[in-house]
Amino acid sequence: MSMTMNFEHTTLGQRVLFGAGRAAAHLAAEVRRHRASRVMVIASEFERPLAEQVCRDIDVARWFDEVVQHVPVAKAEAAREAAASDETDLLVCVGGGSTTGLAKAVALTLGIPIVAVPTTYAGSEATNVWGMTEDRTKTTGVDDRVLPAAVIYDAALTLSLPVGLSVASGLNSLAHCVDSLWAPRTDPINQALALEGARALASALPGIAQNSHDLEARERALYGCYLAAVAFASAGSGLHHKICHVLGGAFDLPHAQTHAAVLPHVLALNAPAVPESAARLATALGGPDAAGEDPAAGAVAALNRLCGTLDAPSRLADYGLTGSDLPGAVGRVLTSAPASNPVRLTEANLTALLTGALVGATPTTAAPAAR
Ligand code: NAD
Repeated sequence: MSMTMNFEHTTLGQRVLFGAGRAAAHLAAEVRRHRASRVMVIASEFERPLAEQVCRDIDVARWFDEVVQHVPVAKAEAAREAAASDETDLLVCVGGGSTTGLAKAVALTLGIPIVAVPTTYAGSEATNVWGMTEDRTKTTGVDDRVLPAAVIYDAALTLSLPVGLSVASGLNSLAHCVDSLWAPRTDPINQALALEGARALASALPGIAQNSHDLEARERALYGCYLAAVAFASAGSGLHHKICHVLGGAFDLPHAQTHAAVLPHVLALNAPAVPESAARLATALGGPDAAGEDPAAGAVAALNRLCGTLDAPSRLADYGLTGSDLPGAVGRVLTSAPASNPVRLTEANLTALLTGALVGATPTTAAPAAR
């Protein structure tokens, strides 16, 4: 590794508890640790059965189920009012990234600690990033008050996640790893976490796709998901996240599927400019096809192979995006993407990238318009 060791790195502090089948016991211990007596549990109606299982050994003062993807401001306000009137002293969220996001919105203004029990691979539980949506625009921010005090990972809670959603969510997590390789605050520490996260996810997801009840693969995916999120929180949002943020906020595309479809195209654009990271990523994803292969091409081929094996979402057109949406999206990405992106961004290369993701083309580093 030839990276100069000259950087500033912050490690976020939170307790992380792993154990399949142990979420209820871990949660009861966390409630005692916080001496909490007025617990609000946030879980969507759909997630409620999982949440009831997890909360069976604690007293719940209020269940809050108004969970909507991308946290509309009105829902955040409703949850805050409920927490304030109950004098909630601990928030417990059981569910996917949308559920965690609502707990974060409450913590942001009321400063109440969160214990997060994730049931997808979104990774929000391990970041201090919050997001809310109003008038088709998603706003995000960073605030340590929203970082859950504790995360409880229990792979048994993810067994019910359908294969399609598991794959998309797992690739959302892999996107945290890949984007961390060139994000604004990338450094050797978050790159190490990102590459180990990528290795774990790339080995776990095919197992889940083959057998959705493979508990060991589910657990490895959660481990990769946690590392990915820690890397992302440290490195910041790179080009990939800025693109998905624009697409999610402006066109209401589904979060995880959008990440899955866009990631290979961002990698194909950026990999040639970061050959050393690309070579390490190719190895993490299962190795380049041929010894001596160009590192960027090797990384892109390895990701394409993985996405093919997983039958991953690849066409944004399937989720309602159209060609006429692209100029607006390109304009928004150009103004929000990090100036430090390893490849200079232009209307032409971003249009080529988004067109590829729109139609589900197989990306290659040789695509001239993408350079
Ligand atoms: P989601 O939370 O919307 O969940 C998707 C669907 O899966 C929902 O219908 C949910 O009920 C269902 N589900 C959840 N767990 C399940 C289980 N175990 N079995 C069966 N069904 C289950 O989607 P997501 O992809 O987890 O999260 C997306 C949201 O998270 C977005 O709003 C995104 O912006 C946010 N996010 C934030 C961060 C951050 O750092 N702040 C990071 C990643 C994602």
